[in-house]
Amino acid sequence: MRVAIGACAIALAIFAGVFGYLITVNPALLNREPAAAPPPAVAAQPSQPRQTVTVVTEAPPVAVPTPVESSPTVAQRTATPEAPPAAAPPAPAPPKIMAQAPPPAAAPPARTAAPQSCPGNPNALGVARTVEIDTTGGPGFGFEHFRQHDFLEPGEVVLTYDDGPWPQRTMAVVNALAAHCTRAIFFPIGKHATYEPGILKQVAQRGHSVGSHTWSHQNLTGKPVDEGKREIEKGISAVAWAVGGPTAPFFRFPALRHPPELVTYLGERNIAIFSTDMDSFDFKMRKPEQVRNAVMAKLKKFGKGIVLMHDFQQATAAATADLLNDLKAGGYKIVHMRARAPVTTIAAFDEEVRKDAKLPTVGGKPTSSVVRTVNE
Ligand SMILES: [Zn+2]
Repeated sequence: MRVAIGACAIALAIFAGVFGYLITVNPALLNREPAAAPPPAVAAQPSQPRQTVTVVTEAPPVAVPTPVESSPTVAQRTATPEAPPAAAPPAPAPPKIMAQAPPPAAAPPARTAAPQSCPGNPNALGVARTVEIDTTGGPGFGFEHFRQHDFLEPGEVVLTYDDGPWPQRTMAVVNALAAHCTRAIFFPIGKHATYEPGILKQVAQRGHSVGSHTWSHQNLTGKPVDEGKREIEKGISAVAWAVGGPTAPFFRFPALRHPPELVTYLGERNIAIFSTDMDSFDFKMRKPEQVRNAVMAKLKKFGKGIVLMHDFQQATAAATADLLNDLKAGGYKIVHMRARAPVTTIAAFDEEVRKDAKLPTVGGKPTSSVVRTVNE
């Protein structure tokens, strides 16, 4: 009898496992689609992933705003994998360079429920949503140049910071973000990463996504392709070296110049390319209020988007705390983009960076405490 019950239990477990697999792993089966008939769009691009942007977490679940009258075609909320889109997604074409502003969106939504608790700050922005990016094939983000993936809802904002790490300034930005328990993407310059690896480590440790922004921040347009590849790869290796751990396959071209051959190359390397939805032009500004006003004005105009700023810039560093308060007061919500898998580096460039950086010794004490003039 006991044996029979045991056998029954095992059979049930196997059945539940198989059924669970069908539900979780192969939603197509639930849809009764013949497995052998992939959507034609996908068949034409066998190496393309089914979905590039995946919602990983969403909080709070009850506070999803429903800004009325926004286009239903805009949203690509993919939190429910068992619900394949009614129509096959548009064939993922190679990134195209397009001079196009983000589509106008509804006004920022009404304020929503409080974010996750953030010690010491009852008005913290927090992170409303985390999305995981499958960088296979080098997807492009940012409507100034790409219009492949429109995944932000009205009122949602992705903060991005370029050109660091830099003493004081980067940490001013990082501390302001920490005070709001929120997250951003950083695109550091490789050389700067080798100057200030400790700062970049802290950026990564605080949970921000760390991409890269070339080795020496040259405009790669018109340069030999090999030189462009070298700038990209050495930048990636330098950032990885400085962080000392996994970094994201996220890349931004200096000056948002996108040589087509290098766009293709990044696709082959499975590295996502970030342009921007709105450029703050903070590098032209001296006063923090100008940065605040510029960002808030553009967000008001576009309603949502990926914002380009520079942690390297003094005015931006000084503006960040107030800007985050402004975003909160305006009802905006922060979306954190993180990579599904870390970037891979190329060994030859890792080696080059190690030589350039002249690895620190175990001491790590400042020179002033190591070398002291005792007689002159
Ligand atoms: Zn830059």
